Formats: sequence, structure tokens, C-alpha cells
Amino acid sequence: MERIIKATRPEMASYEEYIDEIRSVWDTGAMTNNGPKVQMFAEKLKAYMNCPHVELFVNGHASLAAAIKAMELPRGTEVLTSPFTFVSTTNAIEQCGLIPVFCDIDDTYNIDTDSIRRNITSGTSAIVTPHIFGIPCHVEEIESIAKEYGIKVIYDGAQAFGTKINGKNIAEFGDAVMFSFHAIKVFNAIEGGALAYRDAKLKEKLELYRNFGISYGATNDVEVSGFNAKMTEFSAAMGLVNLPHVEETIMRRKRLARHYQEVFAEIPGIETYRYEESIDYNYAYFPVVIDAGKTGMTRDAIWLALKENGVETRKLYDVLTCDYTFYKSKPYKRDVRYAREMTERCLDFPMYSCLREEDVDYIGEVLKKIV
Ligand SMILES: *Cc1c(COP(=O)(O)O)cnc(C)c1O
Repeated sequence: MERIIKATRPEMASYEEYIDEIRSVWDTGAMTNNGPKVQMFAEKLKAYMNCPHVELFVNGHASLAAAIKAMELPRGTEVLTSPFTFVSTTNAIEQCGLIPVFCDIDDTYNIDTDSIRRNITSGTSAIVTPHIFGIPCHVEEIESIAKEYGIKVIYDGAQAFGTKINGKNIAEFGDAVMFSFHAIKVFNAIEGGALAYRDAKLKEKLELYRNFGISYGATNDVEVSGFNAKMTEFSAAMGLVNLPHVEETIMRRKRLARHYQEVFAEIPGIETYRYEESIDYNYAYFPVVIDAGKTGMTRDAIWLALKENGVETRKLYDVLTCDYTFYKSKPYKRDVRYAREMTERCLDFPMYSCLREEDVDYIGEVLKKIV
């Protein structure tokens, strides 16, 4: 009788599809090192994302770090970013010897372009920022700022696979876009990551960083201190069998999002996202903003009451990355008033294609009962 609704569930093709796909690994013996499945997966992604340049990596984080390295942003320069994200974004900037400058967000949950303008200086070399919840940043305005100041734009699109702006895939905006294929993203390869990028010349550098920095020739040499970030054939195989299902997954999630909107419209103080017509969202998440004045309860109290009633939700994000212990004491600039407010008001509801409409109705009933 007690039902439990999980916060996330992975999107997986059938067991049979996967087994069929990996059978040939036993014939070839190729398990990793840019094998046939990785190459095929990269080609399929280029077609899907309408982007001629795509490299695959072991995960999204490594893809982002490799992108930053390959662009050779001068060490010690400033990078504008949003702290309302998974810590990976901030870590990648820091690990590449750059100085994160934490900008505020707006009601898209993404970097606020006014905050970009307030914080950009002659020492700024790039904007490295997420499309959080799969909701796109203000890409046009960001591009025009980047042009004006001659800086790079790298998007952390870990959550944004499949999102389109005016019919254009999100991979087509910015100098590079990272995607994560971690198990709980809209589209997964168990673990995995991709980088879509504009400048063909980056290819060689990205390959070096992915493979220890080794360049193969008459004598093998090492020109950069690379990492090991290669995708395995088993991951690529999972990506290959999941990719044909991704549009259907997104359509399913869209229907669930519409249903949530109808159900939550009757509950005062639960503000759902105002989706824009020009954007095809991937509905990776279903974030709402709690107006405690109307619900009479804080986000944390609602989270707990839902949990006690078998509904798992996630406090995304309850800490800004700049407020974690490692970053807290660093002298990095912070312009994060609204972002910090959101850490106390934002709540992410269950969203995955095997969630049922009746589960959403149930969540609505529980929510009505408690607030
Ligand atoms: C998932 C995620 C990452 C990390 O991706 P991995 O593939 O797990 O390395 C980075 N940034 C954001 C915003 C994410 O959601």
C-alpha cells in the first residue's frame, strides 16, 4: 500500500538490445582505445547534434576539463561561471589553474547576463557555465558579450542533451559544449561524456589530453601533461542502443511536465517553470520554486514531508559551489544574491519516462495534503 516514488530512474534500452550490441566485442577483442563502437557512437552523435566536431570521453567532467585545457586559456585569468550547478563545473575551472568568478543567476536558473557585464574585466578569458536542468542559457546575449570582449564560451551542457533553441541543437552554441552521459542523465552511456566544438584545430589537442598527452609518431612523444579519459566500448555500446530512444524519452518527459504543470497549478506557492515556445526542452528535471509565504512551509520542510510520504525529491541545488568548504575561504568574487536565495527555495521533482501520470497525480495529492 505504501508507495515509494524515486527521485530518478535511469533510461535504458532493453537488455536484449545491449547484449546484441556488445556481442562483437568478444569477436574483435577491442574493449577500449578508440575502438569501432566509440567511433560509430561519435558519428551518430555528430548527426544527432548537427555538429561536425565531436570527441568522446570517459565522462562529462573529463570532457569539460579537456576543453578548457585545449583552448589554452592563460593560467590565472578569470572565468565567469554560475555557482548554481553541480560542483564539476567549478572544479574543472579550478583544476585548470583558472580563477572562477561566481556570477548571479536569473529566473532561468542560469547565469544572469547583467551579472556577466558587471563582472567581466580585461582579465577575463572565458565564460564556462552550465545550461542547468537542461534549460538553455541566454546564448545569443552571451555570444555577443563574448564577441565584444574577445573571450571564449564553453558550456557545461551535462544536463542539456537534446535541448534545441529555435530548432537548433544546443551543441551548436558556444565555442564548445560538454555533454554528460552519466547513468541518470536524460541520455546515458552508463558513464561517458562528449565535447561538441567549433574549431576543428582543437581535435588534436583534445585527443592528446584524453590519452596521457602521448602523440604517436616515429618516436612517441609527450607534448602536454594529459590524463586518461578514454571512453570504453561497453559505454559506447550503451550509448548506441540508447540513442534511438532519446526523442521518445524526451516526448514522454514533456507530457509528464505538462501534467505536473496542470496538477501544481492548483497548489498555491508551488511555482513551475515558465517554458518558452522557441525552445524544445529536454525536460531533464522538473524544478519548482517554493514560495514559503504561500505554502506556509519552507522548501526543506516540504522535502521532508514528501519523503515521509514516499515521494523522493531533490534539493537541487541547496549549496552554491562557491560555498563548499574547498571554495568558501578562497578570495574569489561572488555576485550571487539571487542564486543563494534559490538554494533555499528550489526543489526538483521526479522525472523519468517510466514515471506514470497517476504517480504525478499522487505527488499532487500528497503535496496538497501537506502544504
Ligand atoms: C552530471 C554533471 C556533470 C558531470 O558529468 P559526469 O559525466 O558525471 O562527469 C557536470 N556538470 C553538471 C551540471 C552535471 O549535471
